[in-house]
Amino acid sequence: MGGIIFWGIIRSAVLIPVLWILYGLMEYKYWWWFGIISVYGVIIHPALIKYNMFLQENDELINNTLCSSCKHFDKTAVLCLKFDKHPTLKSLPCEGIDWEPMDSKNETTEVHA
Ligand code: SF4
Repeated sequence: MGGIIFWGIIRSAVLIPVLWILYGLMEYKYWWWFGIISVYGVIIHPALIKYNMFLQENDELINNTLCSSCKHFDKTAVLCLKFDKHPTLKSLPCEGIDWEPMDSKNETTEVHA
């Protein structure tokens, strides 16, 4: 996931100066359309493709593991937030010991007298 954001930033850093240079060389009405199409084609579309590939590669892990029903699991990053590690299909960072259901709060209630 971080790679998608990283390369999105790199593509933006390249595209913005190119659009800036073209701004002075093209007619304004064409520049707008070129800008919109190039932002989609260079930044958004590759990020969507990479994100869909990421979801396909991690589909089993996101939907059919112990982590997928645990409140410490971040599905968007495929990350155990408690251990700050990526679970795999073969190993879980907690080995199942720290699993907690999604809706549990695990909060203590203090009573003040
Ligand atoms: S605490 Fe254990 S079960 Fe829960 S997300 Fe982390 S590794 Fe998975």
